[in-house]
Amino acid sequence: MRKRAFGPLDIQLPVVGLGTWHLDEADPDDALLALRTGLDLGMLHVDTAEYYGSAVEALVGDAVRERRDQVFLVSKIMPQDASRRGTVRTCEKDLKRIGTDYLDCYLIHWPGSQPLEDSIAGLEELLAAGKIRSWGVSNFDERLLAEVREIAGPDRLVCNQVLYHLEERTIEHAVLPWCEENGVAVVGYTPFGESVFPPSGKGGQLLKALAQKHGATPRQIALAFLTRRDSLFAIPKSGNAEHVRENAGAAKVALEESELTAIDRAFPVGQRRRGVAML
Ligand code: NAP
Repeated sequence: MRKRAFGPLDIQLPVVGLGTWHLDEADPDDALLALRTGLDLGMLHVDTAEYYGSAVEALVGDAVRERRDQVFLVSKIMPQDASRRGTVRTCEKDLKRIGTDYLDCYLIHWPGSQPLEDSIAGLEELLAAGKIRSWGVSNFDERLLAEVREIAGPDRLVCNQVLYHLEERTIEHAVLPWCEENGVAVVGYTPFGESVFPPSGKGGQLLKALAQKHGATPRQIALAFLTRRDSLFAIPKSGNAEHVRENAGAAKVALEESELTAIDRAFPVGQRRRGVAML
């Protein structure tokens, strides 16, 4: 599995990791097998959240228990809970639900009304106590990212997890450049988009043609494009071990410059917009 540095951290993470939202909708044995298959294939970046429910978090805990030290486990706090004391308390409850002593990264799931100073103080407290090893945010735009940096200082914020797929490239206007300038990893969620995959029309045709050329699949081509820069990671979710194998295989696909340009033209970034799109 191809790896790269994750933001300012002195570790390398796989370009394709494992999402877990709605994983509890699969048969539990299938879901567990899917996660374990992904881990066996080196998809050691596992993304979960309190929001995904205790059944998902318990599944994640079961999947990672035997190799906890090899896994980069991420969870997220809902913003309404992210006061200073709330952040600490909520993380402690999350650790119990997952059945682990620490998280590798703890994210504020989306921007909320708690003062960022308080949330960051809580995250730093968790860090000092060894309950988390790093922290980040999700669905933050460039203005809020700059606020976080202003409060926390450089190299504290590790990643921003954002909506990023071929038909939703808003982050490329300002969020991705901000993260690259500030050494913050960008973790793209919902990489297969919000409707059918592959999309219909010329874009879908192009993905199929490139897949054929590379002996790959359209999903692997999409994931290869979405992880084409040194700052980018993707976390597709699947409760099906065969699908997970396919997603892991994306890391082997090397798209040529001309192919990246063709995909870029088929799925244009669109009008300059500020902010960040969310699911
Ligand atoms: P996604 O990963 O783009 O798509 C998941 C869907 O694609 C599932 O229906 C899955 O079905 C299917 N799928 C995956 N691989 C496949 C394959 N190889 N062949 C056929 N179907 C395949 O969307 P997502 O779950 O919304 O996003 C990924 C992860 O990002 C989430 O699970 C979550 O961890 C994270 N996320 C974060 C936020 C946030 O606000 N921070 C928001 C949304 C998601 P099967 O299970 O049947 O394979």
